[in-house]
Amino acid sequence: MKILVLNSGSSSIKFKLYRFPQESVIVSGEVEKIGEDNALLHINLENESINEELGKSDHQKALKAITTALITKDIIKNIDEISAVGHRVVHGGEHFRDAVVIDEEVKSKIEENIALAPLHNPANLKGIKVMENLIKNIPQVAVFDTAFHQTIEPLRYIYALPKDLYTQKRVRRYGFHGTSHDYLSKTAAKMCKIEIDKFNVITLHLGNGASICAVKNGKSYDTSMGMTPLEGLVMGSRSGDIDPAIIFYLMREGYSAEDIESMLNKKSGLKGLCSHNDMREIEELISSGDKDAKLAFDIFVDRIVKYIGAYAVSMSRVDAIVFSGGIGENSISVRKAVSDRLKPLGVTIDDTLNLCDDKNNRFIHSKSSKISLIRIKTDEELQIAKSTYRLTISNQS
Ligand code: AMP
Repeated sequence: MKILVLNSGSSSIKFKLYRFPQESVIVSGEVEKIGEDNALLHINLENESINEELGKSDHQKALKAITTALITKDIIKNIDEISAVGHRVVHGGEHFRDAVVIDEEVKSKIEENIALAPLHNPANLKGIKVMENLIKNIPQVAVFDTAFHQTIEPLRYIYALPKDLYTQKRVRRYGFHGTSHDYLSKTAAKMCKIEIDKFNVITLHLGNGASICAVKNGKSYDTSMGMTPLEGLVMGSRSGDIDPAIIFYLMREGYSAEDIESMLNKKSGLKGLCSHNDMREIEELISSGDKDAKLAFDIFVDRIVKYIGAYAVSMSRVDAIVFSGGIGENSISVRKAVSDRLKPLGVTIDDTLNLCDDKNNRFIHSKSSKISLIRIKTDEELQIAKSTYRLTISNQS
């Protein structure tokens, strides 16, 4: 059985075709530069990669190009070979606590949440509507970035603001990267051989966007991203936590709301601190003695440590800490610097295991460590495919 996973963004659509129940990837690819004059389709086959110029393309043309290529490249014989389609949807608001099979009501709820995710939900919805026409009668599933965090309790999701802002304007912590934190916590539980509903883990998704999640008894208990993905950790170009009064000070100094929003999202974080947002470049600069890069690295690590300390106390017991995302999976120095700061929790890293740069999921703590340290490659697409399989095909058998 074949399941197509789609991540429809405003200017790109990423896709992966899976074989189930084997959970293996048949093919993956992307259409980029949607909305521009020169959209490009890339397909990665086992021994070959295909690139095709599509000209000016919208979501309709891009998805048609993807499904047509799957047939012309003999990956599937016809469109009916796809048993179900899973879509990444960024914002499910308070309505969705799990993935769902898409119907009219689901689409209208995704639309309602456009106000909360104006950059993402419109493109996610476009992907769903286009596929509906291309693959009539094939079930589609929406998997929400926010759904995993719907188990967080009010004392951790309500901001200390006038209460009408929550009841009337939906201002609250929603949290993001939920599909990744869900996958990481379940994978870590299996590796630790602890049942998921008895497992307490802190998962670090450290990529260009970065967030941390405290998972208690297998459920999201707290997370660093908030009403939007701007809160929390220092990120590639996002500030993470700042004093909100900085915004009003800057407005009085002549900055517009748009300037500040763009600054906090695109010109802050690691990039704002040292002009680079790629941890590889920052590590190289540090070895050549660059002081700004060193300070950026230290601030990045310090924020992570603060959150881990707070979550460890709040959950009272932590079985494991997981490093993931482009930085967590690959940066030996970030894993080392974070772990060394966690000695008060009885955490010790094994430097030899940490150095090992194979791509396998692995434990990296020393025998004496009180908490397991694990490096895991996150796989949001596989998690989306699994949810799609669970809600459609495995339900019928
Ligand atoms: P992601 O958003 O999860 O794809 O992560 C992208 C980020 O991972 C890049 O911007 C880099 O900062 C970081 N990254 C990728 N490879 C490495 C590496 N080998 N060492 C350090 N950081 C890396």
